Amino acid sequence: MADTKYIFVTGGVVSSLGKGIISASLGKLLQARGYKVTIQKFDPYINVDPGTLNPYEHGECYVTVDGHEADLDLGHYERFLNVPTTRANNITTGRIYQSVIEKERKGDYLGKTVQVVPHITDEIKRNVKLLGTKYKYDFVITEIGGTVGDIESLPFIESMRQLKWESGKNCICVHLTYVPYIAAAKEYKTKPTQHSVKQLQELGIQPDILVLRTEQPLKADILRKVALFCNVAEDAVVQSVDVPTIYEVPLVLQRQHMDVTVLKKMGLEVGPTPEMKAWNEFLQRKVNATDTVKIALVGKYVELQDAYKSIDESLLQAAIYNDRKLDLHMIHSEKLTDANVADILGDMDGIVIAPGFGQRGIEGKFAAIKYARENNKPCLGICLGMQCMVIEFARNILGLTDANSTEMELNTPYKVIDLMEEQKNVTNMGGSMRLGAYDCSLQKGSKAYEAYQKEHIQERHRHRFEFNNEYRQQFEEAGMKCSGVNPETNLVEVVEIPELDWFIGVQFHPEYSSTVVSPNPLFVSFVKAAINK
Ligand code: GLN
Repeated sequence: MADTKYIFVTGGVVSSLGKGIISASLGKLLQARGYKVTIQKFDPYINVDPGTLNPYEHGECYVTVDGHEADLDLGHYERFLNVPTTRANNITTGRIYQSVIEKERKGDYLGKTVQVVPHITDEIKRNVKLLGTKYKYDFVITEIGGTVGDIESLPFIESMRQLKWESGKNCICVHLTYVPYIAAAKEYKTKPTQHSVKQLQELGIQPDILVLRTEQPLKADILRKVALFCNVAEDAVVQSVDVPTIYEVPLVLQRQHMDVTVLKKMGLEVGPTPEMKAWNEFLQRKVNATDTVKIALVGKYVELQDAYKSIDESLLQAAIYNDRKLDLHMIHSEKLTDANVADILGDMDGIVIAPGFGQRGIEGKFAAIKYARENNKPCLGICLGMQCMVIEFARNILGLTDANSTEMELNTPYKVIDLMEEQKNVTNMGGSMRLGAYDCSLQKGSKAYEAYQKEHIQERHRHRFEFNNEYRQQFEEAGMKCSGVNPETNLVEVVEIPELDWFIGVQFHPEYSSTVVSPNPLFVSFVKAAINK
């Protein structure tokens, strides 16, 4: 395609309407038509990246292949498009300012006064266009975080206005709003939508397409009214009714020809409607599954809906590919003890030990691991979960009482998990962990190899501590094998107990690479083992 097309997605009325899912779904529809699509997220906060935010603030921190700590929406983009994102796909206000200030210090602005307009807006536009010019995408979909009218998103909205003005047909704005149902009046109300569109218009932007989030289907007269009052063509008002799974949203939009409207508005030929075979097959399997698989996820952020987003989605995908409904139980690690663990985990088919940082809730993870190990329950430990498997084994099998990670106890007599050498002098907390994709060689014949069906894999990391190789022989002799290592550094990436049916800990995060059409093999294998139990 000659020119890259830019689509901005904004939100109005309230936050949490699912701009990420709408962006990913539209991206999917365009991709299904053969276009090269990428999705980018702008976050208006001042943190340089979300890596230093705790899960209470911002849900899960997603990690890209190139080691960027990113907003969790990038996880949705990858799960939908099955194409990796990079640090260019997630930009914050902090990063924009950081780069402008660095340029100013270098003298790049030649003595000019550096201002929000044009310098900040130029930097924002540069980051949007970069995906088109450098990475040669046909479509760049840019989701602007927050809600229209927020003070902090103004520079992003202004940049979108300028880009629209400069690019003509090559740039459109999709605005997502909410249409609430007022029970007392028995009516759906469009006024909040009208107001939020007005707010955009005041900022110089006429949205091209409106997506209305609603709990129940809206009647045609409501859609017509919105079109009339918001200055949008009738066929460009799309409704997004709540559906049982986010993976149905692309089909909801396709049925209303949203992709066709986009193509027409941008002067592109429409062509035949794509089949989306793999996608539909996945949804069909989901509908057909009747039996359930019961999985416990043991972590300390279980009350937060988004803290383990990628793990939840990976388990769901793995369950569906095993033709099962996922019955996921979030178990608070702080509430688990040796005394109650059998009651709580007894009827689970499999147990996942979550990643994390710090001491809180760790004893409960040990209790869950001990229970899984002694009762031969399929168990998957991820990152801190894997480190806990190692510590539990050291304490209860190797007899190394008080063995620990130096993250939890600096003066432990047995540092079975220790700070990586290159981490010892790190003082700057942002973006300084071992981040991104690294190679791992799996031992032939191991359970991990069986799962991946290959020797060389790559998975993403986000940690500072590692298995201490000084103890490796001791562990292996006692029955915990190091079945995956980094071929360059010899760092242990996978541990497992071959004697048990399925007991694997991984230092990496397999959940970041699981997508709808390509589920992560480790999760698929884990869920399969849980079913066979
Ligand atoms: N806190 C551990 C480390 O830094 C594990 C991190 C994680 O689970 N992501 O090594």
